[in-house]
Amino acid sequence: MTTKKLLLLPGDGIGPEVMGEVSRVIEWFSGRNGVEFETETDLVGGCCYDAHGVAVTDETIEKAKAADAVILGAVGGPKWDGVDFSVRPEAGLLRLRKDLQLFANLRPAICFEALADASSLKRELVEGLDIMIVRELTGGLYFGEPRGITDLGNGQRRGINTQVYDTFEIQRVAGVAFDLARKRNNRVTSVEKRNVMESGLLWQEDVIALHKEKFSDVTLDHMLADNCGMQLVRNPKQFDVIVTDNMFGDMLSDVASMLTGSLGMLPSASLGDADKDGRRLALYEPVHGSAPDIAGQGVANPIATILSFGMALRYSFDMGAEADLVDNAVQAALAEGCRTGDIASEGEKTLSTHEMGSAIISQMEALSA
Ligand code: NAD
Repeated sequence: MTTKKLLLLPGDGIGPEVMGEVSRVIEWFSGRNGVEFETETDLVGGCCYDAHGVAVTDETIEKAKAADAVILGAVGGPKWDGVDFSVRPEAGLLRLRKDLQLFANLRPAICFEALADASSLKRELVEGLDIMIVRELTGGLYFGEPRGITDLGNGQRRGINTQVYDTFEIQRVAGVAFDLARKRNNRVTSVEKRNVMESGLLWQEDVIALHKEKFSDVTLDHMLADNCGMQLVRNPKQFDVIVTDNMFGDMLSDVASMLTGSLGMLPSASLGDADKDGRRLALYEPVHGSAPDIAGQGVANPIATILSFGMALRYSFDMGAEADLVDNAVQAALAEGCRTGDIASEGEKTLSTHEMGSAIISQMEALSA
């Protein structure tokens, strides 16, 4: 029996409610197929600020580094709106990403058959959709120097942000995308704006060089970011893995995610570099926030967080069959008509967070029998 250590950070709002259901899924898996999951729960976000005056403690950061994977719920809420920016709930999440050097953000956009009609696009465009967007997360425009607002002294001010990428940053995130593509449909689309940005030109050249050196078995295409936005809503099924920088990835992953319906369904993973044993620091979390409008009511959809744990099984623990079981159990529960409020049509019966967790676990039992 091998033991995998999971650090659970439920956070604020609906975070603890959805994490409760993930804990049941983890418990279900623990001890099966030779893997035991050891979990520890800690504070991040507003709840951590209330307890310690910071959004995440040094001790928790160390625990996150030592864990085999971190699963996070959500942070934030109106209670902390007036708190200083440096200790705001979101600062805890940013520090985790930064200190763990999680440079690759993976956002799958999968269309669940039972929800195809809930998409903003026609059923035939999204039915069977399964794409993965890999966004560079620690560089580019959101971090580049110089940055700031300067007073020009003539009644004018100037706002500056700098898009800056080095070869190693481009190639390590592209490497993650190529690796993923090999486990999927073997195609990568690299996205930038080389027509107007030197950093885009470098991006393309560095991706091509890496491809030639190590991944020539994977099909590689290049697309301008504006065209990619258009193609995602015109014909999203043409893509397998998309790799792009921080800012374009921010926008394109939001566009892609909305093709598949509710925020309550969307998982994500953020990965760091692999060490010599192939172990990567990793954080898994739903795309949604703490949903203060429904927090405490027991009605939040736990699927995004359960699917995030499924991604941990796949990408941190190489447990593809178990990850498939989670995905298939969610498909099956939806196909049987299980709905939380966010994905229900008018008049449809809705389940509580806990009931949805139970429905998914029952399907896992049935599918693995
Ligand atoms: P949100 O994602 O929390 O909610 C947006 C809407 O979607 C709300 O109507 C909410 O009820 C609904 N929703 C979200 N998740 C749901 C789920 N699992 N089940 C059912 N319905 C769900 O975004 P917001 O309202 O803009 O932000 C609320 C707080 O969350 C803010 O403090 C924000 O800073 C924070 N936030 C945190 C994260 C994070 O922790 N990664 C991400 C986004 C926002």
